[in-house]
This record gives sequence, structure tokens and C-alpha cells, in this order.
Amino acid sequence: MTRGALAQAVVLCGGLGTRLRDALGDVPKALVPIAGRPLLEHLLLSLGRAGTREVLLLAGHRGERVATAARALAPAGLRVETLVEAVPLGTAGALHLVAARLAPRFLLLFGDVYAALDWRRFASHAGARGGLGTVLLHRTDHPEDCDTVALDDAHRVVGWSRRGALPAGAGGAALGNAALAVLHRDVLDYVPRERPSDLYGEVLPALVDAGAALHGYTTSEYVRDVGTPARLAEVDADVRSGRARLRAELALLDRDGVLAVERDGRPALRPAEVRLLPRAARAVRTLNEAGIRTALVTNQAAVARGLMSPADLEAVHARLAALLAAEGAHLDLVLACPHHPETHHAEGVPALRGPCACRKPRTGMVERALAELGVRPWRAVVVGDATVDLALARRAGLASIAVATGKGATDRAFPARPVWRSADVDAAARWLTGQDEDADR
Ligand SMILES: [Mg+2]
Ligand SMILES: [Zn+2]
Repeated sequence: MTRGALAQAVVLCGGLGTRLRDALGDVPKALVPIAGRPLLEHLLLSLGRAGTREVLLLAGHRGERVATAARALAPAGLRVETLVEAVPLGTAGALHLVAARLAPRFLLLFGDVYAALDWRRFASHAGARGGLGTVLLHRTDHPEDCDTVALDDAHRVVGWSRRGALPAGAGGAALGNAALAVLHRDVLDYVPRERPSDLYGEVLPALVDAGAALHGYTTSEYVRDVGTPARLAEVDADVRSGRARLRAELALLDRDGVLAVERDGRPALRPAEVRLLPRAARAVRTLNEAGIRTALVTNQAAVARGLMSPADLEAVHARLAALLAAEGAHLDLVLACPHHPETHHAEGVPALRGPCACRKPRTGMVERALAELGVRPWRAVVVGDATVDLALARRAGLASIAVATGKGATDRAFPARPVWRSADVDAAARWLTGQDEDADR
């Protein structure tokens, strides 16, 4: 059964593709080959599998070629129709062509985007949030030349700035929109009829300024446009290598409550106290085997408090590594903050007391992991059991998974919410590697 926003997708194929003309000649962007098949074919197959019933292609330049290709490429059970705009209406204005046919909520994306997305999770997240829509966001590595978006702890968009400026409230890393959204058709009320208009550059930012409820979905999943020759080559390589299928390339794993047991609410202080949670080693091995890098990111204030020495902490992590290795799993990087923010206690190590850049939810360890492991930041995800982990993800501009083990994200230390939830780190690993796909349908 297809419910909500997944039933109908509107795909904007009107772009002229000027930056790709040297590489493509006169081929419409939606038909560029990715791993030997037209981009549009990848999209239609993926949507069809997710349960989409109707795709409306809004085409301009070379629209008849798009229409012919779409008829040939549509999988069984998916109705695909192409509408050609006589004059360019802009990405928002084009929606008026199909105004009478829009479902209450629909997917909207661009024809030059390759998306390896768990459409159902996206649609259910968007459905639960409601409002005028939910836009898909990635941490951006080039905030100076893309529009950037700021979210609050509940994933509501609170700022949207044009190229170059960080929006107010952006706090940490900048989020850029990935040109994919679930929208409510009431958005059309805000789209000018008398002139062309741009959705992401004009209409949605104005909605945010007016206080409308628009939400963000920060994901590490593979969604990338092929609008330049360099990006086209990158996407082609990622699809061919299988990397695009992975839902992240780096898992930033909390330790206690995610991989290791906290006994009596207390982390292990000595190697002999280290216990793995059930299936934790299998989870790390699953990530290892899929080629998803793993980094431990943990606060261990017991060092500052004098309850364990730095050598004890190293020994605890050596024991953790040995327990993982016994089941064929390894961490690519282990990062721990030994500090404690409070200076007024007499106990412990004065040098480790006071503010630092690494204690979660500060993002020092995340930035270090990203730099040392050299992954694309937008492909990283935080997996944690406490709200401090979710707050870390939000500040770092990354997706997050809350596991039900450990604190189960029920502590109220921070108001941040996860993007996704999983029963435990093993379920998270299986989802990140795409191994749950058969079970899901
Ligand atoms: Mg924890
Ligand atoms: Zn620290």
C-alpha cells in the first residue's frame, strides 16, 4: 500500500543543462547515462519499487525526447506522464501546470538528481511533521555558493539564506538543500502566477520568512545532482562502485549504551568491566564489510574526575577493540573526550577540568573524525543512545540515529530529536548498509 506523499511524484526536467552541454551535447539532463542507463530510468525504477503510482514529468527543453524516453522506461504499475511547458515558468511556476492534479502531499524533485533514498522513511518522516513540506538537506562543504538552511531541535526550518550567508540560528555546520522535497499542495498559494519563479531560491525562503511550517530532513543518504561535468563523473563512479547504495560512508558511534553496557548507569572504568551489548560486534562488522568507516566518539569525564587515568581509558578501549576483534570487527578511529566542564569541584585532574572543544555536544571529535578519515561530510551519520548525541549531530549538520538501547534517547538533557530510530546498533548497521531492503517489502 502506498500512502501519503509517496503516491505521486513531480519531476522537474525543464533545466537547460548549459553547464553539461560540452559533455552531453543536446541530451536532456534527465536522460544522461549513469552507469550505462538514463538517469530517469534509475529514478523511475526506484520510485516504482517504493510504491509510487504516478509520476508527472514537467519538461521544457527537448521535452518531446523526455516524453518518448519516459514512455519506454516506465516500469509496470507506474503511470508516467510528461507535460511540456511552452515557456519556461521556473521551478515553482511550472507547478501551476499540474495544479489541478496534485495530491495533497507529493514528492518533488529535479530530473538531474540521482537519489538512492529510503523513500518510505523520508515520506513517513515528512508525513509525521506535516506543515507545508519537508526538504531534504545535506551538510554542505561549499556554503559560500549554495543556499543554506538552519533547523531547530525539532527539525523545523528557522532560517534560509541565499548564496553566501549563513542563516541566523545555523549554529554549527551549514545545511544545503538537495533539491528534493515532500510538499503540501498549499505551497502553490505562494507561487506567483504572472511570472516565472524559483522554488528553492525564492518561494520556500519566503515561506520561512513568513513563519510557515517547513521542515528539514538531514540525511546521509546518497542524493546528488549531476548538473556539472565533475558531479556527473562523481555520481557515475559512486553508482558503479556501489557506494551510492550505502546510506552513509561514516558511522560516528557513541560507546556506552550503543556498543558497550553501562552497569548501574556507570561506564567501564577498568578493562575487566567492559561488556559489549548483544549484536554490537556484529553491527560493527556489518559496517566494516560494507566499507562504511567507523569512529568511536565518546565523552569520558571520569578521567577528569580522577576516577580513571588516561592509561586506564586506553586500556578500556584496548579491551573494547579486542572484544570486537574476536568477532571480526574493528573501529577505524577511537576518539574520547577526557574533560569535564565543571571547575568548582576539588576532585580530579585540574588540567582536564574546564571547557573544551571536544566534549559532546561540541563538535570537535566529529570534525577530527571527518578530517582524519577523509570522508565526504554529508555522508556521515551519528549513532547514539542519548540526547547529547542527537544534539551533537544537529550542531555538526549531520543525520542521526537514536537506538533504543542504553538511555534510548529518553533522557532530557538536550531537546534534540533524531532523524531516524533503530532498535539497536545492529538494526542501524543493517539499514545503513541497505540489508533491510528485502525485509522491508
Ligand atoms: Mg551513550
Ligand atoms: Zn574534551
